[in-house]
Amino acid sequence: MTLPELNRSFSTDEDCREILTRLRWPEGVECPRCRNRNVWWVDSRKQFTCSECSYQFSVMTGTIFNDSHLALPIWFMAVLLLCEAKKGMSAHQLKRTIWGQHKGSYKTAWYLCHRIRAAMKEVEKPMLDGTVEMDETYVGGKMRGCGQKAGIEAKEIVIGLRQRGGDLRFFHADDAKSGTLAKYIRENVSTDVEVLITDTYPAYKYAVGDVAHKTVNHSAKEYVRYEDGNCVSTNTVESAFSLLKRGIMGSWHKISAKHLPAYLDEMTFRFNRRKRSDLFVDTLRHMVTADPLTFERLTA
Ligand SMILES: [Zn+2]
Repeated sequence: MTLPELNRSFSTDEDCREILTRLRWPEGVECPRCRNRNVWWVDSRKQFTCSECSYQFSVMTGTIFNDSHLALPIWFMAVLLLCEAKKGMSAHQLKRTIWGQHKGSYKTAWYLCHRIRAAMKEVEKPMLDGTVEMDETYVGGKMRGCGQKAGIEAKEIVIGLRQRGGDLRFFHADDAKSGTLAKYIRENVSTDVEVLITDTYPAYKYAVGDVAHKTVNHSAKEYVRYEDGNCVSTNTVESAFSLLKRGIMGSWHKISAKHLPAYLDEMTFRFNRRKRSDLFVDTLRHMVTADPLTFERLTA
């Protein structure tokens, strides 16, 4: 999807509603309250009415779009911008691109970005298989004070798992102790995985359990080793980390620990669909099927 294509296909609320209706109810419109399929369209209200319970609803009712005053073509434009920004896009940038320097409010753009981000979440996470690389990294935190008192503020730990040729997962972890690492391995890595590759950080030795495990010794400046025709390295998960860090530095500037999991979801959602031509439509599908995100919950 390109901007000109978007303008051609989704320039009116009606165009947008039509595709959202197909994505939300592929089997036919259904009352969100009583699941009845016998509904009629009230054109003056742009809503459906349920013949059973008389509930009036639109395709946006009970979705991420709920209670939005923004025109749907603006929503669609924001979705496309976030889908196409490999390293993410800040709410400031989105505001400038859509409304210009002096129009629109930052708060609207910020809430808009967060709601789209809330939809960019994997509902199903199949276990990773084959060759899986795992590593941990630290993001955020800044230098505080100066001279002898200078210190680094607490950084947040991100655990990364990536199946070679497959999916990437990021998690915001409380710590990088072996028990925590073991939990992420248990929940994400298939028990009959070919091999799990990590660096020589000692906690992994206790975390892997029965999983076949190989390490690459970064402290000895070893980054890639070939063993029985297999490439032992954690380079592909590390390249995903560097994309994440460039996103945090360049687009989002600073993100709070509270919102970090949502950014990680956004990053992995986009990354795992980077070769798919339906990224935009798939994001729209998530937007009409994911749980809504209220402003109150976001700012709680
Ligand atoms: Zn009903």
